Amino acid sequence: MKIAIEELAGCSGCTIAVLDLHEMLLDLVAQADIVYSPVIMDVKEPPEGIDIAFVTGAIRNEENHERLKLLRKRAKKVVAFGTCACYGGVSGLSMLSSNDELFNYVYRETATADDDGVIPNDVPPFLYRAFAVGDITKIDYYITGCPPKEAFLRQIIPAIIAGDTLALSRKSVCAE
Ligand code: SF4
Repeated sequence: MKIAIEELAGCSGCTIAVLDLHEMLLDLVAQADIVYSPVIMDVKEPPEGIDIAFVTGAIRNEENHERLKLLRKRAKKVVAFGTCACYGGVSGLSMLSSNDELFNYVYRETATADDDGVIPNDVPPFLYRAFAVGDITKIDYYITGCPPKEAFLRQIIPAIIAGDTLALSRKSVCAE
């Protein structure tokens, strides 16, 4: 079983939520190899033959779009993981501002911006809006939450890996 964890337009909180499974990760890696994750390993693109790809983050720019399409080609099952991937989430808030406003804020106005105020010219072009991953490609499962709750992940990730189905109560899929 080969697993990928993709990171698109999000905050890394969803990937950290997986790492927060602590000792359960040891059980998971006994059943499955994590073959691609830009956050936790130095692999530049997803390999062929992925069984399950967890996608975190929304689609906000052309690079996100291309990476999602490549992952969909190389993965048998794709899971939208977290509210950004499922619905657009906080990346969707970027649509409240123009691209110029966003770039000026990020690269010139925040306290951590470089003093030179130079906007890099290699930032991938934005799409005209943020998209949920399901707007772009077929998704097999959706796991909501910002990030998804640990107790929920402890139920659902082993089930997805084992190919089982889960009977979930409404309470288990709604924010408490
Ligand atoms: Fe971060 Fe929340 Fe988006 Fe996950 S759903 S990437 S935790 S903002």
